[in-house]
Amino acid sequence: MSISESPVDPALNTGELLKSGCQQLAGVLNLELSTARIEVQCLMQSVLCVNRAYLFTHPERILSADERARYGELLMRRLNGEPIAYLLGQREFYGLELKVTPATLIPRPDTELLVELALQRMPLCCISRVLDMGTGSGAIAIAIAHQRPDAEVVAVDASEAALNVAEINVQRLQTNNVSLLHSDWFSALDGEHFDIIVSNPPYIESGDVHLGQGDVRFEPLTALASGTDGLNDMRRIIADARAHLVLGGWLMLEHGYNQSERVRGLLHQAGFGNVSSVQDLSGIERVTLGSV
Ligand code: GLN
Repeated sequence: MSISESPVDPALNTGELLKSGCQQLAGVLNLELSTARIEVQCLMQSVLCVNRAYLFTHPERILSADERARYGELLMRRLNGEPIAYLLGQREFYGLELKVTPATLIPRPDTELLVELALQRMPLCCISRVLDMGTGSGAIAIAIAHQRPDAEVVAVDASEAALNVAEINVQRLQTNNVSLLHSDWFSALDGEHFDIIVSNPPYIESGDVHLGQGDVRFEPLTALASGTDGLNDMRRIIADARAHLVLGGWLMLEHGYNQSERVRGLLHQAGFGNVSSVQDLSGIERVTLGSV
């Protein structure tokens, strides 16, 4: 079903609009009421450029025609399934506010695990060189770089459009220790060596039904899907990573909920040692790592 008429009644004040928007969203997208409420509040805040407290203290405010049109458009797009992160143009990751657009994946809380694991393997005594492959919005690279301003972080992506978004995030968050580079995996990294290579590559099976559901429908397919078993890009990264790691360096990969055993197998085959998988917050083995 596609909703094409403004869902906003001009007679309603802000408090009433939030209430009716929340019910519409919960009904149409099958969201919990508490989630739907936060979403409509975020949309309204972004139109009015106000904080959350303002919404609670000014429920009687009547929107101007322009505000009503903008809020109506955002609500309609959300009712048609567009991810809230794209409508707001931002998503929080590791405590940082990142710009996101449909050119980039929306950073997931699960991916913070990759950042944690990298930080744990960056000794305080030395300058670590870190490579983030398929950086998208720059989330992982920028989070690591912020925690460790002494580190040298290189972030690559094959998508120029994604790199443009990452560049805006690097500027906005004044992250001086991230260099962005256009590269199809290792293609532009000849002769470069790193202490740590991290990646959240595409890993969904190309025929997975989830690709046609929810937020994922609006995200770039090239950042999500990777061949029939989801491991095409993983194989490329693992095959070439050794040549770009210093002795004792680590490769860390985020992967799908049922891929840890296969990714461990690929790392063993490629000659990595200390291979293990680590669970995410939901208890699912989400990151697999190994060292050379
Ligand atoms: N974790 C994402 C999802 O399942 C996929 C991200 C990815 O392919 N790297 O929606």
